[in-house]
Amino acid sequence: MDQITRKAYAKINLGLDVIRRRPDGYHEVKMIMQTVGICDILTFRKSGRQDGSVTLFLDKKELPCGKENLVYRAAELLTRTHGLRDGVEITLEKRIPIAAGMAGGSTDAAAVFHGMNELFGLSMSLQEMKDLGVGIGADVPYCIQGGTALSEGIGEILTALPSPPAAYLLIAKPDISVSTKFVYENLHADRLQSHPDIDGMVQALERGSLEGIVSRMENVLETVTVREYPVIQTLKDIMRREGALNALMSGSGPTVFGVYKTREAAEASRPAVEKSGMTKEIFVTEFV
Ligand code: ATP
Repeated sequence: MDQITRKAYAKINLGLDVIRRRPDGYHEVKMIMQTVGICDILTFRKSGRQDGSVTLFLDKKELPCGKENLVYRAAELLTRTHGLRDGVEITLEKRIPIAAGMAGGSTDAAAVFHGMNELFGLSMSLQEMKDLGVGIGADVPYCIQGGTALSEGIGEILTALPSPPAAYLLIAKPDISVSTKFVYENLHADRLQSHPDIDGMVQALERGSLEGIVSRMENVLETVTVREYPVIQTLKDIMRREGALNALMSGSGPTVFGVYKTREAAEASRPAVEKSGMTKEIFVTEFV
């Protein structure tokens, strides 16, 4: 086997709660994670060099291709952990919006675990990959697992859930940059007025009730980002006015997604979002 290609899917949060800030500074979360059909593409090759080196090729110059890239860090971690002598060359075709709240970097790192596991015949179990992956980032274990999941702790305690009923998504990333660090630093977890009904959403997923899911969509990080960036609220309002069952910010933002019953309904609200001039990155997709 000379070459392996893997798709790295983005995620959205159907619900995101922060329980408390731990004394060590990490936030304890309770989130419903869902994979969606926007993906990066990674190709893995053995380089033929017997020096355990990692080489990353990228099609986006705004991303680092050295140690700051999560792909590079995941590949280096695997090379070191397994004492690999063969070098690896990785090509990353970036399609997921960057710094968007869609776990773009984490899902690329997860694809490295799957891709190198196969290319080098490392025989790592899913659990072994997740245990190692949390060292790269809190969302990496979820991205290794994928699908629909309840994520607790700092993101490393995962419970797989049934997929939601089929629905369509309009996803739009406003043309602004939001730092995840800024959002968490400015969140007052002990002063939140309202918390999402995550347990109710889990039950709605188990019942297969789309209505039960969309009526519980809530993200406590909006208390920070919407105040700072009103464009997020405006996009949510446009999607709701144009027929979305509900709309929410994903992760720490700024990406907003609307949930629709049909693809036609999602497509029909795209022009209003385009016309707002607030975003150039707009996708219609589904749950994966
Ligand atoms: P999350 O939802 O986990 O908070 P995000 O979608 O907000 O993630 P990313 O797209 O993962 O954010 O990128 C955040 C930062 O991480 C970027 O500004 C970038 O410099 C850095 N980064 C490192 N590796 C990658 C990668 N492979 N893809 C995207 N960003 C990366």
